[in-house]
Amino acid sequence: MSKSTFIIGLLVLLLPISIIAQENMGSSIERHQDQLQDLYKQLHQAPELSFMEFNTAKQMAAELGSLGFEVHEGIGGNTLVGLFRNGDGPVIMVRTDMDALPVEEKTGLPYASRVVTSDLEGNRVAAMHACGHDMHMTVWTGTARVMVDLKDQWKGTLMMIAQQAEERSGGATNAIGAGLYQKFPVPDFALAYHVSEKLPSGTIGYRSGPIMAGVSSVDITVFGEGGHGAQPDQTIDPVVLAARLILDIQTIVSRELSPLQPAVVTVGSIHGGTKHNIIPEEVKLQLTIRYYDEAVGAQIISALKRIGNGLAASAGLPPEKYPVVKVQDESTPPVINSPGLTDRLVPVLSSGLGKDHVIEMQPLMVGEDFGQYGLTPEQVPISLMWLGSIHPDKLPSGGAGPGLHTAYYYPDYPATIRTGVEGMVLMLLDLFGN
Ligand SMILES: [Zn+2]
Ligand SMILES: [Zn+2]
Repeated sequence: MSKSTFIIGLLVLLLPISIIAQENMGSSIERHQDQLQDLYKQLHQAPELSFMEFNTAKQMAAELGSLGFEVHEGIGGNTLVGLFRNGDGPVIMVRTDMDALPVEEKTGLPYASRVVTSDLEGNRVAAMHACGHDMHMTVWTGTARVMVDLKDQWKGTLMMIAQQAEERSGGATNAIGAGLYQKFPVPDFALAYHVSEKLPSGTIGYRSGPIMAGVSSVDITVFGEGGHGAQPDQTIDPVVLAARLILDIQTIVSRELSPLQPAVVTVGSIHGGTKHNIIPEEVKLQLTIRYYDEAVGAQIISALKRIGNGLAASAGLPPEKYPVVKVQDESTPPVINSPGLTDRLVPVLSSGLGKDHVIEMQPLMVGEDFGQYGLTPEQVPISLMWLGSIHPDKLPSGGAGPGLHTAYYYPDYPATIRTGVEGMVLMLLDLFGN
């Protein structure tokens, strides 16, 4: 027999098996689709803020429990892990996040969130799933359901993790610190999605290697010597100093870093003073800095201190009144997708969803704490994919729909759920050696 005859024969033999597998997956997804859409809308109307995902976590635990998963709750907070042991084979972790944002929804949708709640600091705030974590949970639940339906087609352990506090970056760190990889089997691979407002629903975006940036949240307090607004000569005005600082730190990225190193320094918040005619004692700034190289992050922090100290000295302040620069715990490292894993999954997605539905993406300066799962000594290969979520008619060509973290973001939920579940199941079946 020639080599080509052999290959054609093999293909003819394998074809019915792959068609059966596809049909089963397709019919399983269809069977769950209506319920998943209802689940999505229900989760959307019940957002809970970071570290406060109490009801959401209970609900996710109940979903897994009803499917026969062994469920472990309270892993470093509200995070939970479900294990579905299905014979000998690899351990594969699928992660969703659960937290919402303090944003007042303005989509006008019939299922819009109207929730007003207290945040961790006790402030009354509106809450919205403006980062699409409700969609992540829906696709995650759908994946668990379909994988259980198809349990005759794979062997191994499916490890589903629903993580608290992605937005405040404590979720992954706390779960790992609480013994995620000691209490449970160490995954051979870990997968996750994040919805994208740049990709149409029905598509999945990938990138091998760096995909999301490292993030540090930095608080700066600028001090001065306050006084009467009518007598500025008798003060050292921290409002003016803060204004100079904001302009001066714009040169960190443009003049101090290598032009080949991506980085961002953004001042997102400035607060000082109480009244028109009082020069205050201090002004507080909140910054986000973004980078792909931890050394660049450290270089930016040290430049912030150096420039702040120089300005304070030039204003005549003593060293004890130089600005205080504090890096918050919310900081998170870059997400580096394991090239071996990602390169293996792309053809799986392309053949299952169609080549046009699987799109290579450029790295972005947004952040995610999913990268933490790949940075422990266990060196778990990770891959985070973008899940297209904007209805194609609403996506300007080359542009983006209403942005994540805005009051106007909403996914095209029927198609996003369907593609999300199908893509994740395709990847899992491949990794489980189906
Ligand atoms: Zn977010
Ligand atoms: Zn998010």
